[in-house]
Amino acid sequence: MSHFTYQDGVLHAEGVALGAIAEQFGTPTYVYSKAALLANYASYADACAGRDALVCYAMKANSNLAILDLLARQGAGFDIVSGGELLRVIAAGGDPRKVIFSGVGKSVAEMRLALSHDILCFNVESIPELHRLNDVAGAMGKTARVSLRVNPNVDAKTHPYIATGLKANKFGVAFDDALATYRAAAKLPHLEVAGIDCHIGSQLLDDAPLLEALDRLIELIDALGDEGIVLHHLDIGGGIGISYGEAGEAAPVPVGDYLGRLFQRIDAWRARRHGGKPIKVIFEPGRSIVGDTGVLLTKVEFIKHGEEKNFCVVDAAMNDMARPALYQAWMDMQPVVQSAADKLSYDVVGPICESGDWLARDRALTVEAGDLLVMLQAGAYGMTMASNYNTRGRAAEVIVDGGASHLVRQRENPADLFALEAVLK
Ligand SMILES: *Cc1c(COP(=O)(O)O)cnc(C)c1O
Repeated sequence: MSHFTYQDGVLHAEGVALGAIAEQFGTPTYVYSKAALLANYASYADACAGRDALVCYAMKANSNLAILDLLARQGAGFDIVSGGELLRVIAAGGDPRKVIFSGVGKSVAEMRLALSHDILCFNVESIPELHRLNDVAGAMGKTARVSLRVNPNVDAKTHPYIATGLKANKFGVAFDDALATYRAAAKLPHLEVAGIDCHIGSQLLDDAPLLEALDRLIELIDALGDEGIVLHHLDIGGGIGISYGEAGEAAPVPVGDYLGRLFQRIDAWRARRHGGKPIKVIFEPGRSIVGDTGVLLTKVEFIKHGEEKNFCVVDAAMNDMARPALYQAWMDMQPVVQSAADKLSYDVVGPICESGDWLARDRALTVEAGDLLVMLQAGAYGMTMASNYNTRGRAAEVIVDGGASHLVRQRENPADLFALEAVLK
């Protein structure tokens, strides 16, 4: 069920008309639905009910404190990729002991911070990282729980920028090196080998590559078990895609179906080989938790009829939403107020001085200057990838809860953008 619906021809977030939000908070503004967020989280939590499982929301998809707080209150853990993200989890009241730390380049300072908060696990991606973590933990008199991010060499069949599980990617430890790397980890005195993880890519519409990756992890868990290295958890990463509404796009697998198949395989394996021993299962979903919970609300500044194309110039730009410029991502663009009048084909573009600054191309719209548009499915990798290019303050963020709108991030003002700068004395 979508929580963004037209009521009498006017787009609403839950019970609030988007025009009212534009009036109160201005544009461009990210608008999120609390009910949509909770429903997406529930699709994971319900499928995990009664099992030893943990959903660690991959917060790089959307790290607003209000979103983190709502998820933490549901019992979510968090998948972080920087020390800054850990500080956000703590500021939002999340539990650091439910945090896993991913990423290829963890600094000494980030390791220290995470160890001081006793996080659940470091997802380690290389042998030098194992040694650095061992040294840092030793110096602090601590033991770091580690998992190795294994590269299962499975083709996720997604955009090359968001495919991460192939041999040519920078991520993870090669499958063929995994056993040797585990042996090395098991010998380091300040590490505790706790788990295994992978993350093969993002926006996967089919779960077959994920189940294939699971089989490869299971192979390794068995081989490690034979050597006396017993893992406490298995982390299958994130990656389930969402529907962006493009014509002809394949439907994403429903989360419940995917988790059902995954648990079935794990149960069958446990009965067969793992001696029925329990293993905790961790998920790191990002996009499928927040992607469809948000829209980017923008106002039309000008209509410009070019020689070959019509342009609809809006007040949102690639600095607010980078996905089209970065991955040529198709994102749905709709009017806030529906119209029966004739449509023209437009490229919807922002004010930034780059030809790459477009949000949507060749869209049939009835628009005039001053109208409001929304980019749908903008909740993931929208605000978190926003920049201040062209000294544009980042958009405001609002969460709608039933009939109420809550400002959860103020619009940045230009003076804030250069407040940390200084001229030479
Ligand atoms: C980005 C990322 C995720 C989340 O991926 P989604 O496609 O948004 O679900 C999970 N794990 C890791 C390690 C990531 O880098």
